[in-house]
Amino acid sequence: MVKKLFLLKLTLLVLLFPSLAQHTHTARIYGGQYSAARISNLRANCQKYDWARQQLNDAVTKAKPWLNKTDEALWAMVPGQDLPRTIDVAYDKFATGPKFVGCVVCGDKIFQYGNYPYNPDFENKPWKLTCPSCGSVFPTNDFGKYYQSALDEHGVFNPAKGDTSLLFNTDHPDPKDPLHKFGVDNGFGYVHNGRAYKYIGYYSWKYWRYIQGGLTTLANAFLYTGDQRYAHKAAILLDRIADVYPSMDWKPYADRGWYHSDGSTGRGKIEGSIWETGIVQGMADAYDKILSGTQNDPALYAFLKRQGQQYRLPNSKGTRELFVANVDEGILKTTFQAVLDQRIRGNQGMYQHTVALCALALNTEPLTTKWLDWLFAPDGGAIPELMINRFDRDGTSDEGAPGYAVIWGGHISPLAELLLSYPSYTNHNILRDFPQFKNVYTVAYRMAVLGKAIPNIGDAGSTGLVGIPNADPKFMAEGYLYTRDPAIAVAAYRANGYSSKGLGLDIFSRNPEAVNQEIKKLGEAAGPRPTGGYLMSGFGLAILESGKGTSGIALASNYGRTIHHAHSDMLNFDLFAFGHWLTPDLGYPEFATNIPNVTEWTRSTVSHNLVFANKRPQRAAWSGRTRLFKQVDGLGIVELDGKPAYPDLKEYSRTLLLVGGSGNNTADSNAYVVDIFSVKGGNDHVFSLHGPPGAVRTDGLQLQVQEKGTYAGTNIPKGTKAAGFPYGYSFLYNVEKDTNPPASFTIDWKAQPGYRGLTEKDNIHIRMHATTPSDDVSLADGDPPQNKPGNPRSLRYMLMHRAGTDLTSKFVSVLEPYRNQPFIKSVQRLDSGNEETISIRVEKMNGTIDYLLYNPSSKNGVQLANGIAMNGSIGYIEEKNKRTTKAILVNGTSLRYQQASLKSTGAIEGKVAKMYKGLGGEAWILVTSTSSIDKSVIGEQIVIETAGERDASYQIRSIKKEGTFTRIFCGPGTFVSKIKSGGTKKTGTTPDNTENYSYDFEEGAAFKIATHASWNSKN
Ligand SMILES: [Zn+2]
Ligand SMILES: [Zn+2]
Repeated sequence: MVKKLFLLKLTLLVLLFPSLAQHTHTARIYGGQYSAARISNLRANCQKYDWARQQLNDAVTKAKPWLNKTDEALWAMVPGQDLPRTIDVAYDKFATGPKFVGCVVCGDKIFQYGNYPYNPDFENKPWKLTCPSCGSVFPTNDFGKYYQSALDEHGVFNPAKGDTSLLFNTDHPDPKDPLHKFGVDNGFGYVHNGRAYKYIGYYSWKYWRYIQGGLTTLANAFLYTGDQRYAHKAAILLDRIADVYPSMDWKPYADRGWYHSDGSTGRGKIEGSIWETGIVQGMADAYDKILSGTQNDPALYAFLKRQGQQYRLPNSKGTRELFVANVDEGILKTTFQAVLDQRIRGNQGMYQHTVALCALALNTEPLTTKWLDWLFAPDGGAIPELMINRFDRDGTSDEGAPGYAVIWGGHISPLAELLLSYPSYTNHNILRDFPQFKNVYTVAYRMAVLGKAIPNIGDAGSTGLVGIPNADPKFMAEGYLYTRDPAIAVAAYRANGYSSKGLGLDIFSRNPEAVNQEIKKLGEAAGPRPTGGYLMSGFGLAILESGKGTSGIALASNYGRTIHHAHSDMLNFDLFAFGHWLTPDLGYPEFATNIPNVTEWTRSTVSHNLVFANKRPQRAAWSGRTRLFKQVDGLGIVELDGKPAYPDLKEYSRTLLLVGGSGNNTADSNAYVVDIFSVKGGNDHVFSLHGPPGAVRTDGLQLQVQEKGTYAGTNIPKGTKAAGFPYGYSFLYNVEKDTNPPASFTIDWKAQPGYRGLTEKDNIHIRMHATTPSDDVSLADGDPPQNKPGNPRSLRYMLMHRAGTDLTSKFVSVLEPYRNQPFIKSVQRLDSGNEETISIRVEKMNGTIDYLLYNPSSKNGVQLANGIAMNGSIGYIEEKNKRTTKAILVNGTSLRYQQASLKSTGAIEGKVAKMYKGLGGEAWILVTSTSSIDKSVIGEQIVIETAGERDASYQIRSIKKEGTFTRIFCGPGTFVSKIKSGGTKKTGTTPDNTENYSYDFEEGAAFKIATHASWNSKN
């Protein structure tokens, strides 16, 4: 009876004091991310594999200095809220005068050491900053002593308690010495010429990171070794941080005008709200790692209890349960609340990742599930909106430059992977619910033409830079680990130099080299990357490729985002041949700010290979449209509609053909480009084109040197901000002009030695064969940004100008990249120039003649005097020794010449009857069509009519006949282009609230699938 009553009382107590209940239960042993199984696999792997043992040894070495610190010293390291912090010594939002003033002694010389020039030596020079430029050391007082004098009864720094007699320059102790107070900082800065130099504030910012780094190394050492001494030391830091973290607040320092990563919100905790995400990620991760090492450590809890009593701390201490409760409350729960209050925010993906790490470290229901669900809630982390509204089907974000566009995927994939490391949570799974997200792993590699060079689109790279930055094979291999998508494994293997070395090693797995072996097998079986080109309609990049190996040629045309780190460059192209960009983009501007040589030149329309229409630059847009993409052996075609860039024009489109060069040619190249740029409307069109840096030769032009000024006028000096003349014209100088040019002329650029590694021996050219009448043709120099390594001094631009009312221009040119000797003898137009159809005859030095017919509307047939007849859009005929050797017909019914006679059904056209409307990745379309659809369309693009913001062109993955309908699969992916704010349910992504979705296209829309027929002579 007595016993029963006691139990009842206890139950009541527990009900009344839930927080007490938590403490009376045994706290969890493991965090959610580092489970017993994962940890034991890791430790076992360190015994078996050299690479794993190496990681263990590194972890132990790094942790050594931290293990050697006493418990008391570690505990005392952690400062509180009132130790001031900032990321810039002299910046002051409220001060007048220059924004950044540099060093008190050497001034702006310190700027060459970057934005954060001081790197304190915490062990050997505590509380001191050394100028990396002049070596002067500040503050001059012994701040450490002052800090000690200011510690209050709870062991935290309280400026009101500091012994101010310690605030003097220790090299000049005599109060009469004029330097007695020079360089003295009490924590709020040394005031010099009206500016506070916050040496201690900057030091404290880095000091917190130093502590954080120590915590991380201790936690790693425990994870690898299981040696409890590391967990013990880490726990002391964590418990002490948990004591002070709830009171940490950046705002009082922001209010003083100090600087931090707060996105100008004034919010934050230890740091500004953006970087705080990283601070907490480190703390939560370390806690998760060491939790199992805090059992059976009476010395730890005795120490914490002693400290708690000595410093009169409000939280009781002395057991593991109390330690866990303190860190859960002080760090994890405090963080979640701070995220809700936006004191921890960061860019998209960063704060979501922070919350997920805290939820897993907490590993306690119902809160863990609640926090993870919050990530996907419309009024929470809103991940579905992020996945749809800000990403595209290729895995790029809404940024217009390759580097920036792939960053987000890199930020969010660790979050997706983190959720997968916690299998008990199944409500959401990014890679399962948004399967197209897996494209983030390979997107950078897929942007690289010939697998070698990512075009320098927008604020990316530099002029003519060749490389595949961001295409990290390890990241790709990780993608394979989590998706088991063979295509990702193959990309990783190829990007890793056709090797699996170091890829996909999963130390947490029982069989940590299994994935590595799979990548090896898949990579070897797949062989070399095929040459051929493809379309990335989400990012807006068309790649045409020809030839193999180093002699490969590729054409990259971009038609996607011209917002966010983009240039006004829709429909621009760059040509890659002989391992170099031959019509190079200027790349990353001088500074990513709004100064005329950035906004009016580097990012402008006229500095690109584009038509600059009506003296106005292009308007910013999400995307142009695909009209046609087709790559067959020996001929690549892309036709792109860039009307969103010039909405007031009737037509702004470009058709690019990459002709020839297929197969195993050992010759340097015989592939060339036909460029047809169509512009209708307005009264002024300037076609701008430039080659690589180097000498330029013209043939057929009579150029007069303009003695002074720029393309903007003889009286307008170089670099003048646009006023009364168009953007960019004043950046084109050394002008020569032909005011009565023939339609037909050539310009030859020879790439100069030194351009991206070219030597005297290289003799690489690009020659333009113009075929279009114009009012005037000018040559002028334009400068790439001069502060980027390897950028040329200048490039030579060709500017073909046409003026008139309601002008229609078709700039038709042939571009011939060659080494040593040209291979094209002549280029001739066979059409009158007044009709819609364009017919070109290209005669090569070896006697081969190519005929290219372009008939965009295909309304009327084409009949040439030599007998060539075509019903269709695009035709290509190759003739050798007066015999037809090759014929290709695209989107037509017939092409005839000599013995060649091609017949085809023409383009497949039809209507979308039904479409997949969810987010889940199924991406099917049910269609009716005029001609039958068979398996030959697999791999082709289905181009769907759209009034939406995004291009609606998709690669066909598979098809299925369903009565009179055909079901076309374009996945994995979704056609939802936008989720209106608050548009998803709190849990689950299917079934969807489809009324809140906008789509790439609508049911009932027309579509087109390109077809082709080809013919080769036997010989
Ligand atoms: Zn200095
Ligand atoms: Zn550009």
